[in-house]
Amino acid sequence: MIGKGVFTIVLSLLGFIGPRPLPAHPEAAKKLLVVTSLQDLAAIAREIGGKYIEVFSIAKGYQDPHFVDPKPSFMVKLQRADMFIQAGLGLEIGWVPPLLDGARNPNILPGSRGYVDASKNVPLLQVPTGDPATLRARGDIHPYGNPHYWLDPLRGKIIADNIFEGLARLLPGNKETLQRNLARFKKTIDAKVARWVKMMAPYKGKSVVAFHNSWPYFEQRFGIKVVAFIEPKPGIPPTPKHLVKVIRIMKERRVKVIIISPYFSRKSAELLASKTGASVIELAPSVGAFPEIQTYTDLFDYNLSRLVKAFHGN
Ligand SMILES: [Zn+2]
Repeated sequence: MIGKGVFTIVLSLLGFIGPRPLPAHPEAAKKLLVVTSLQDLAAIAREIGGKYIEVFSIAKGYQDPHFVDPKPSFMVKLQRADMFIQAGLGLEIGWVPPLLDGARNPNILPGSRGYVDASKNVPLLQVPTGDPATLRARGDIHPYGNPHYWLDPLRGKIIADNIFEGLARLLPGNKETLQRNLARFKKTIDAKVARWVKMMAPYKGKSVVAFHNSWPYFEQRFGIKVVAFIEPKPGIPPTPKHLVKVIRIMKERRVKVIIISPYFSRKSAELLASKTGASVIELAPSVGAFPEIQTYTDLFDYNLSRLVKAFHGN
């Protein structure tokens, strides 16, 4: 039988007990690892968490957030994460659940201290009356209501509140700084929104066509009107019959601008443009969609300046 002392020495030698070696970079080691599903959530988290966090976004802004490849490297990130933030409303249903399963990190699962559902308290648009499971089975990828709510900067402030709440739970000692960061972010958004709404005022009620139904929150905030979609239903590819209908609507409503996102094929949009004389513009559905969009406010600066230019040209 091995004595207790010998056993302790063996464990120490194996590195199980005893003083832990100091991390090489104590400052860096203290940062919380925050993983987000989208770059928009990462951008807002960075505003609130500042120097206390390191942020990694699984989906990149140039990818369709409904369809992301759940790669094993993302599971490794989630395994190490202190916090996970997602948009919710079924947006990430095809890829976040398998990633969380694979990560086996109980600290970031829904309901735990390190989990943030960014959609909490966000007023939703287009919530269908049917059963979400049935709607989903029919191919509808917005069965809980429209999940693209980060495209309204005022809803972005609610996202920031949710992220603040989560970070304050994990960093109670830094709550005051986090609170100051939150207040500064909200002040910036309010000032920017006033400017953006003024900038869009001359184009109030202008009709556009979009590829995917990503824009209801943006529309509501900035006064444009998406009158038809290239997709007959969210996630369903266009048919020739549907495109004929869209051309009719575009002619009736004199639509001169077609909005697409970097991950959609331009083919149908170009066809519609050739039949109606409209122009096709690529707007950013998320932070990171184009290299110049690094922050949450960059997203609106980019999209609104593109739209104004397109309306001006027609
Ligand atoms: Zn969608």
